[in-house]
Amino acid sequence: MTIDEIRQSFYSLQQSIHGNKPLVYLDNAATTQTLQPALDALIAYYHQGNANVHRATHTLATNATHALEETRKAVQQFIHAKESTEIIFTSGTTASINLVANSYGAAYIQPGDEILISEMEHHSNIVPWQLACERKGAHLAVIPINDQGELIMEEFEKRLKPRTKIVALTQVSNNLGTINPIAEIVQKAHAVGAVVLVDAAQAVAHMPIDVQQLDCDFLIFSSHKMYAPTGVGVLYGKRALLEQLPPYQVGGGMIDQVTLPQSTYTGLPYKFEAGTPNTANIVALGAAIAWLQAIGWKYIMEYEQQLSAYAKQLLQDIKGLRLISTARDSVGILSFAIPTMHHLDIGLLLDAQGIAVRTGHGCTQPLMKRLGVDGIVRASIGIYNTEAEITYFVEQLARIIR
Ligand code: PLP
Repeated sequence: MTIDEIRQSFYSLQQSIHGNKPLVYLDNAATTQTLQPALDALIAYYHQGNANVHRATHTLATNATHALEETRKAVQQFIHAKESTEIIFTSGTTASINLVANSYGAAYIQPGDEILISEMEHHSNIVPWQLACERKGAHLAVIPINDQGELIMEEFEKRLKPRTKIVALTQVSNNLGTINPIAEIVQKAHAVGAVVLVDAAQAVAHMPIDVQQLDCDFLIFSSHKMYAPTGVGVLYGKRALLEQLPPYQVGGGMIDQVTLPQSTYTGLPYKFEAGTPNTANIVALGAAIAWLQAIGWKYIMEYEQQLSAYAKQLLQDIKGLRLISTARDSVGILSFAIPTMHHLDIGLLLDAQGIAVRTGHGCTQPLMKRLGVDGIVRASIGIYNTEAEITYFVEQLARIIR
């Protein structure tokens, strides 16, 4: 597929902003634009008949159930899970982390235990653990980062203790772009008996994920960061672990027997899928996965790395710009600060030229504190961005600064 063909698959990219500025969308780390084949799958699902899954025996219900379960298998293959029962659908990364923090927290965290996160986590991978610690009298320990925006691995090892119960880390930082050495982290955490949750929200659209190779215990991501519609999340968990966990949300669809005094629950994955799932958007996620697989990781990674290197080089040449994304191993997330300007002003002035970037703390206030800034500007690359867009963005940025 050529870049033009890729861009043709995204209707929203064809628009102009403020009347005559062609859209340059560089806020992909927040949410990607939505792929037409995913939207087609969503509409086709509704056209062919919407029905509740896993309940009725009529044809529409059977078809809806089949479509949902086929997507579960597609997700299983996409992240190389052993079984499709290890794939749980939620409403997003945040919901998936809350599920684990509540369920695993209730079952396994004791007073005096430790939960280990890092200084670069998204608020979604901080706050649920703060609450889990509060509920159980546990302690939240934090791995610091170095000045390049990388985890300090010696500090990680120092913080691993027999009472570390869970290590919850991002695979890729949403504001630094840093790719963390997850396989090594998992191996070291397992050596002290801790389980590892991987927040793959920023990894899933940019690199292949193999949960068996990583040997992680939980892995989590959202549909809206991988060219699918909003509203769907995935929680992968090792079967043996998930089986031991109590349900988080309860209600229809996850029960075995209900009597008025008490209930028993059904097995995986339904034990964690209370209520009617977001079937249409789950089906659309399946179409996005098929599209990403058809393009192939080799192309995606090479293309995005090349664009990212080009953007970094141009940004580094801007006088007075402090580049924040400086890790050696990283994806196309380019954050920076201009000490003489407010990030919000830069965002508004770029928007006036049709350029969409993220500004502010980027849901990482502890990271902002570590960096000594109250906000950043973040340009994040997606599969449909072009070299011409990067050139235009950096030219406009330089002009604004001047
Ligand atoms: N974790 C990371 C690393 C993220 O980048 C994000 C979103 O930006 C989230 C978690 C939260 O994702 P969601 O809002 O889809 O739940």
